[in-house]
Amino acid sequence: MDSRLHADITARLDRDFAFKEKGDWLRGGRCPSCDGKSVWTHAEAPWVLRCEKLNKCGQEWHVKELYPDLFNKWSERHPATDTNPHAAADAYLRDGRGFDLERIKGWYTQEHYFDRELNLGSATVRFPVANAYWERIIDEPHRFGDKKAHFKKGIHYGHTWWVPPGLDLTTAKEVWIVEGIFDAIALLHHDVVAVSALTCNNDCAHSIEALGQACDAAGADRPTLVWALDGDKAGRSYTRKYVKACRDAGWDVTAAQIPQQGRSKLDWNDMHQRGRLEAKNLTDYRYHGALLVAESAGTKAVLMYQHGNGSSFPFEFDSRLWWFKLDLDKYHKAAEAIADAEPDLKKDEVRERALLEAHAVTEIATCYPQALYYQRQEITDESWYYFRVSFPHGPQPVKNTFTAAQIAGAAEFKKRLLAMASGAIYTGSTGMLDALMKRQLSRLPVVETVDFIGYSKGEKAHPHRAYIFGDIAVHAGRWVALNDEDYFELGKLSIKSLNQSVGLHINTKAADFRTDWVRDLYTAFGAKGIVALAFWFGVLFAEQIREQDKSFPFLEVVGEPNAGKTTLIEFLWKLCGRMDYEGFDPSKSTLAARSRNFAQVSNLPVVLIEGDRTDDMKKGGFDWDELKTAYNGRASRARGVKNSGNETYEPPFRGAIVISQNAPVVASEAVMSRICHLYFDRAGQSPDTRRAAEALERMPIEEVSGFILRATQAEARVLQLVRDLAPGMERVLAGRPEIRSQRVIKNHGQLMALVTALADVFPAINPQMVDAAHDQCIAMAIERQESLNADHVFVQEFWEIFEYLEGEADPGPEDPIGVPSVLNHSRDPQLIAISLPHFEQVCADRKLRHAPLPELKRVLGTSRRHKFLGVRTVNSIINARFNDRSVITGSDQRRPVSVKCWVFQV
Ligand SMILES: [Zn+2]
Repeated sequence: MDSRLHADITARLDRDFAFKEKGDWLRGGRCPSCDGKSVWTHAEAPWVLRCEKLNKCGQEWHVKELYPDLFNKWSERHPATDTNPHAAADAYLRDGRGFDLERIKGWYTQEHYFDRELNLGSATVRFPVANAYWERIIDEPHRFGDKKAHFKKGIHYGHTWWVPPGLDLTTAKEVWIVEGIFDAIALLHHDVVAVSALTCNNDCAHSIEALGQACDAAGADRPTLVWALDGDKAGRSYTRKYVKACRDAGWDVTAAQIPQQGRSKLDWNDMHQRGRLEAKNLTDYRYHGALLVAESAGTKAVLMYQHGNGSSFPFEFDSRLWWFKLDLDKYHKAAEAIADAEPDLKKDEVRERALLEAHAVTEIATCYPQALYYQRQEITDESWYYFRVSFPHGPQPVKNTFTAAQIAGAAEFKKRLLAMASGAIYTGSTGMLDALMKRQLSRLPVVETVDFIGYSKGEKAHPHRAYIFGDIAVHAGRWVALNDEDYFELGKLSIKSLNQSVGLHINTKAADFRTDWVRDLYTAFGAKGIVALAFWFGVLFAEQIREQDKSFPFLEVVGEPNAGKTTLIEFLWKLCGRMDYEGFDPSKSTLAARSRNFAQVSNLPVVLIEGDRTDDMKKGGFDWDELKTAYNGRASRARGVKNSGNETYEPPFRGAIVISQNAPVVASEAVMSRICHLYFDRAGQSPDTRRAAEALERMPIEEVSGFILRATQAEARVLQLVRDLAPGMERVLAGRPEIRSQRVIKNHGQLMALVTALADVFPAINPQMVDAAHDQCIAMAIERQESLNADHVFVQEFWEIFEYLEGEADPGPEDPIGVPSVLNHSRDPQLIAISLPHFEQVCADRKLRHAPLPELKRVLGTSRRHKFLGVRTVNSIINARFNDRSVITGSDQRRPVSVKCWVFQV
């Protein structure tokens, strides 16, 4: 091993594994997979690390998987010198691929590749292919996406293979046909004659035909062809196709396959580097290849029987489920008969033929169910087995869940299978099913689930720290697509979302994303548009910000009808990949529906919109105070869960509140102080702003949904900026004498920091917009403080009506008893006592408009003009005088003297 690489790797291993050195070996390292002190490797050449708990774990890693950054910058680590202009290529092939350079000397050159589109360059390792070349980028190849290995443009290599220089195929007993050049070279190190098809869908027909002719001309036996393509879906399906074609053309042909376990595909080069190309390994790969290309269910079953699978077992053939059973009596009789009839046959051949006669193979399902993984919902204690069911012809495989009960018995299994896919019929017994499940469920991977869409921080001991969106996830600055089995592989974490109700359509194509809408947003909504965008952007980090700062503010978007609120919010949703959606009306939703809406997203906005105001005011089903706890990320309300136990599931609030309505929120000071308030009117509207708003409405979601991807990929940077900048922004706000509320300062400080972070990630937001948005935030903080100082408009209106009516209270000369007050029932001149039903009645009599009682009741307690003391039963002076008057006038009308009143200080 290169001494510098050895030093770098050893330093990392010391840090991560706590090995103990024993002779030439490092032992007792902490296993990242099973947590045992069971990992070992060679001290001088620590290329491969293995867990010694073979039955329980048995994981192994090539050191380049553990520390990819040490195997990434070959030109930097090995600059070209006068004596060796190919130093980087040499090091890459030696240390990165495990090749013996003596063996491949002169086969390749080191070249340079520059990509104009990406404006990036890298050294390459180049191999001549078909009068052109193929080359592999070796310096941080991930930067080049799927161009990391490529051919010279315009190359024609179809139907031919790449032969290692100097190799004579006509003298070989076997020729292995593999996908990559590195695969072929790897096998050559183990005396396997191998050629590269270059891609998995190249049938190499011309080369094969030429080889046949060359053998015939030389009078040599034709070699056996061994198709040894990769173990992925494409490689397996082409292997079957090409083996059949070669068989039809008269070749001796078979296949070899590396059985794939776990998530990352392993190829021949990987096996070479892991020391897994010994004779016994190759035998195993041939066995798996033979299974893949077996021509009949019977042949396949016999292969499996001979491999030690027992005398009865289930197996797959042609996407159907079969049962093999050996009849031992019949077998012995057949063997005797064959040996008698043909005494010259070898023992092996007798056994083979007897086997074919004495076994029974029966189809037990018209499809093939394959358990993929176990998924569990911790909170509700529910679990499922996730299966893929494939079919011989026609329909695509179906993926769905089975409960434990549904795989425990043949009858239930049959029913569930039929329900999952039409025509999927299981005809086996429970015993056969047990045998199938025993094979499939042992060491079945576990996939964690979340029941929401968005950011999952996970548990403290077991963090996720990943964004789980519809078909992509973002983790540590990178995005990952959903795999074929419908979950995300994020490092060691396997995770999926069970939420079906929030659909996000995020376009991951970088070329489609544009930012010219920033200009339209600014034209249509000015600095307020940028502030709204910054808040929306911040929502994508609400969980982390709450973790860091304990709270995340609410945003209230208020404005006149047609001021563009819906346009704005629907556009902001489009940036996150959500189409034609604004929010939901909490006052029209049941408590259960509200809880669902609050719980189904994380680090995404929960937008509360108002429907028809006048209708709802009377219903008053929703109390803004329900939201208070959402500010700190706690549950808004307990939610009952359907499970067998009595526990109540209280999901924490993981989203962020956005309120959109025509009138400002009516709520207690506690709620009001949590809100950043944006008011939109039509005053500034012009043909220009309308055009800009229309442009936002028309903007295709495919061209803007990259926003959420870019934002979440910049997670670390954004959080750093917010952490660094928010305190300074808060000091700016605290410097304004008119702002006193700490909460107002904190909310708007966070918002200002988010404006700066937003512009950092999206430079289309220019410094002028940033300044305007910052000024807007300061103005909003001042306004918010003013609204906290003042009584709510409904309360102001209430006292205005009170004072107006008090003016009427002056008793006229014609009324000897007189009325001291129209509304105030109090006998104590220091108090004001008002009965709200009475207030409503008086207003109705005089045709005075006022806020509806339910709304009024919610805010009246916050009154500042007259301090609220409580709701009390009062001895009413108004009703007492009324009764007096009735006595005088001889009327028999009486009113109760005890009245329930809202009592205030004068
Ligand atoms: Zn282990």
